[in-house]
Amino acid sequence: MSEAPCRHTGLEPPTIRGDFPILSKVLHGGVPLAYLDNAATTQRPRQVIQAIVETYEQHYANVHRGIHWLSDQTTDLYEQSREKVRALLNAPAPEQIIFTHGATASINLVARSWGDANVGRGDEILLTEMEHHSNLVPWRQLAERTGAIVRHVPVTDRGVLEMEAFDRLLSDRTRLVAVTAVSNVLGTINPIGEIIAKAHRAGACVLVDGAQSVPHLKTDVQAWNVDFLAFSGHKMMGPSGVGVLYGRRELLESMPPFLGGGSMIRRVTLDGFEPADLPAKFEAGTPPIVSAIGLGAALDYLDGVGLDAVTRHEQDLTRYAHEVLGELGDLRILGPPPEEKSAIVSFVFDGNRPHAHDIAQLLDRQGVAIRAGHHCAMPLHKRFRVNATARASFYLYNTREEIDLLARSLQQVRQVFRRRT
Ligand code: PMP
Repeated sequence: MSEAPCRHTGLEPPTIRGDFPILSKVLHGGVPLAYLDNAATTQRPRQVIQAIVETYEQHYANVHRGIHWLSDQTTDLYEQSREKVRALLNAPAPEQIIFTHGATASINLVARSWGDANVGRGDEILLTEMEHHSNLVPWRQLAERTGAIVRHVPVTDRGVLEMEAFDRLLSDRTRLVAVTAVSNVLGTINPIGEIIAKAHRAGACVLVDGAQSVPHLKTDVQAWNVDFLAFSGHKMMGPSGVGVLYGRRELLESMPPFLGGGSMIRRVTLDGFEPADLPAKFEAGTPPIVSAIGLGAALDYLDGVGLDAVTRHEQDLTRYAHEVLGELGDLRILGPPPEEKSAIVSFVFDGNRPHAHDIAQLLDRQGVAIRAGHHCAMPLHKRFRVNATARASFYLYNTREEIDLLARSLQQVRQVFRRRT
């Protein structure tokens, strides 16, 4: 059983939980919510909800449009959020932070803009077998448009990238390596620094999908020397509908705009247009104004708790989850040991029975919210010869008690299932 929650990690979930109204919700059947589906989306603290309400009540107008006072205020708040994201990533300049609608939109922006301009027939795009569909499909579409070839770094039985294969597959034909920093199924933390250094030596650009890493682990785009980084606000306590693309300045400046419309232009005539400077060039139309401001509030909150403390707390929970789920015996956790992963634990019962969907449904009756299915990573599931896994994923407000409840509920699931069959 658990001790007092994570005293040694320097983070106090009971205090933190008080900031998240939804976590005190009592569900159908009178059970409290144990929210363990953070890799899908996280919950928001009152501070973020208040920032959203306050913006609509006090500061709302369109950005970069008005001459009027209110528009200036909204623009200031929107640009302050961009600066907060810059600081989070240690990016050289705020113009290199593009607000998009999410990680998916950020990756598609690069595939359409940089990809169409720089990738041709016979060029190679190197992905991995553990990518989310968001980092597979846009490149497959690019290959269909251009005649490029897509290759994939295999994943070992332990659930890590086969780096010898990466070395073999990387060549002077590789134009881009697109890789997730953390697998959304296995939790594996990939060796991004090594991948970027090797890709650059081969003359390739690198896009890192940071959807599962930026909310949990320190990110330094300059230390990584990464070309593009994509992530979503809703997986780090921000509102849905806002995401970020970081890009190297020379690349962003050389890329054509993706979407055309208002804001992204300097001048328009009936015969043509001249694009605006960064970051406006890639922010066509009215951007996700309030969501971006809400993301800024989420980053303030994260900063207040301390990202290092969050990482340590999650490591503690992940280790603990491996320990208590391991005691169930007939349950297989996919991916490497806890020291090599982030806060994601995906599992199947031996023989894949009960099925992940049944597990999730039965856990729901105990108030335990987990995800079941292929988690938008069908090729990875095929590689592990399962069509679905159950996934528990943690964030700063989760506790060891919730993991105990998960384990107890899984025991019950097993008993119910055995009685049935
Ligand atoms: N990449 C990874 C690794 C993810 O986990 C997700 C979200 N599940 C995405 C990309 C896509 O993020 P979004 O749906 O917010 O665009």
